[in-house]
Amino acid sequence: MGQWLCYCGNPMNDHNYPNENGFIAFSDYEWDDISCMTDDENNINWMDIPPSQYEVYKCPKCGRLMIFGESNRFLSYKPEFNIEDAKKILTESVNIEFHSQKNENMGNN
Ligand SMILES: [Zn+2]
Repeated sequence: MGQWLCYCGNPMNDHNYPNENGFIAFSDYEWDDISCMTDDENNINWMDIPPSQYEVYKCPKCGRLMIFGESNRFLSYKPEFNIEDAKKILTESVNIEFHSQKNENMGNN
């Protein structure tokens, strides 16, 4: 995917791993299959986990989710809420810690 622009104009990229805005999405069925990939000691070798069908990136500026399949095109989902309200609701209910946007130089690669 490299680098792209969110529809809000914010530059995005997948140059770093781990990426604080990147998520790997598995369906429940895929996750069930993965959870059954245990060895004799009930461990899962992460190298055995198949690649996900979708990669999801969250724009830290506007909160849109961009879902990539097997191409460099993505589907964009715009939140129906104010991103600051969403952060407050999620952190109060499930204690998810949001990371602040880093000032990375994203245009040189
Ligand atoms: Zn955005």
